[in-house]
Amino acid sequence: MCTLVQFLALVRRDTGLMHGTDQGSAHDLPAPWARGANEDRGDEHGDPRRSPLPRADRGAAGTGVSLRDDGAAALAWAESYLASLRERRVLAQVAPGAIRSRLPATAPEEPEPFAAVLRDLDEVLMAGITHWQSPRFFAYFPSAGSEPAILAELLAAALNQVGILWRASPALQELEEVTLAWLAELLGLPAGWHGHIEDTASTGMVTALAAARAAKPGSRRVICSEHVHSAAAKAARLLELELRTVPGDEDFAMRADALDLDGACAVVATIGTTSSTAIDPIPAIAERCAAADVWLHVDAAYAGSAALCPELRPLFAGWERADSLAVNPHKWLFTPMDCSAFWTRRPGDVRRAFSLVPEFLRVQEDVVSLSEYSIPLGRRFRALKLWAVLRCYGRSGLQQRIREAIRLAALFEGWVRAQPGWELCAPRPFSLVCFRLAGSDEANEALLERVNATGEVFLSHTRLDGRYVLRLAVGNGRTTQDDVRFAWEVLRREADQLGGS
Ligand code: PLP
Repeated sequence: MCTLVQFLALVRRDTGLMHGTDQGSAHDLPAPWARGANEDRGDEHGDPRRSPLPRADRGAAGTGVSLRDDGAAALAWAESYLASLRERRVLAQVAPGAIRSRLPATAPEEPEPFAAVLRDLDEVLMAGITHWQSPRFFAYFPSAGSEPAILAELLAAALNQVGILWRASPALQELEEVTLAWLAELLGLPAGWHGHIEDTASTGMVTALAAARAAKPGSRRVICSEHVHSAAAKAARLLELELRTVPGDEDFAMRADALDLDGACAVVATIGTTSSTAIDPIPAIAERCAAADVWLHVDAAYAGSAALCPELRPLFAGWERADSLAVNPHKWLFTPMDCSAFWTRRPGDVRRAFSLVPEFLRVQEDVVSLSEYSIPLGRRFRALKLWAVLRCYGRSGLQQRIREAIRLAALFEGWVRAQPGWELCAPRPFSLVCFRLAGSDEANEALLERVNATGEVFLSHTRLDGRYVLRLAVGNGRTTQDDVRFAWEVLRREADQLGGS
């Protein structure tokens, strides 16, 4: 993990190198940090902190907001926020409409200082914040943004690249391509796949199924397990495809023997289902898809990050045969919303489904823009934050945190197994534990309500085999063994009180 200072040093080092090789360009302005402090921003003693900012830096948009002063306050706010997470109630404890009722009905007539925004963040909005960054957030699949990615988001907003086509930001497109090639290599995927970043795996699902539909006109069925994420049903509905579900086996994985590909254009198979992280039998499914010329989309939105660890790769067997694949760095790769990696080994088919270049975007360059592979025209500079994460953690840092999350989940699983009156409800290949109190659904639901109402930890639930099941998912790089132990203590304490009440 790198600090703010280390991160800025990394960015400086690279940009400095680039300038070093491009000395002849008359259009190159000196990099902002390369300007001497005395040159245009220091006071007579050269102390940049005491000097007035150059006019251009004083809120160029005329707001009076200064990146240096207000920016420092915002960064200090972010730093102290992240340091305070264990003291905060994880799940927002407000009634619907409570936040809205404290906000003015109209925007201000006159400009306000940025300090007013920060103040209202504290005084109004924080009550309605569920702390996804909390190390005690164990619900759904955690999504925790790390320092390098947080800083990169700031820089991406400053650069405000709008990647509508390659020339609109060559760096955006080429960094996105390189970063996804890096990530593919880290995950052990085949070299040479086309990769781009979508906002979410749900959008990636639409991309995949639209490509599948276009590649096999006349076949309008999508086949998936009964445990597939609802994003598949939504995408199928939008694309007017018929979704057919295949039953799961006793481990909640798709039963490949029940796969009927008649009339199918696509199969969606999952590695790490949302409810229980079950793994569909990808090799067998891929074999059937290849024989029937059916598109295979592998949804590894949560679990895919675990392929960083070579010892876990057997769980991903066959995914290299996918026609398209989704992995969400915004789930388990320490990258804040939103960042969903999408790869395909059939870029021509994806492009045929999506490419539509109007006259006003026609160019001479012989380069395919990323906007030709998905729904949006403009794209954010999402690659910057993912690139920062991959660089500032490195392969070893990422592996270490993935392994630690799995170790913590295994520990929790062991505690549940050893405790009379509790039961495990599904196999645990990754960092999600499915468990319940031995008792009624109502008792388990009441327990979850009690636990989450304390605000001490936050867990969520699902239904497996028709039963109400609690889920504890570890995925935040800040979560420690003490946090998981604490969650177990809260669960047992509330269960005892429930039994006694
Ligand atoms: N697929 C799986 C397996 C998921 O678990 C989820 C979300 O939890 C999704 C897809 C949807 O992800 P997104 O929120 O990026 O659309």
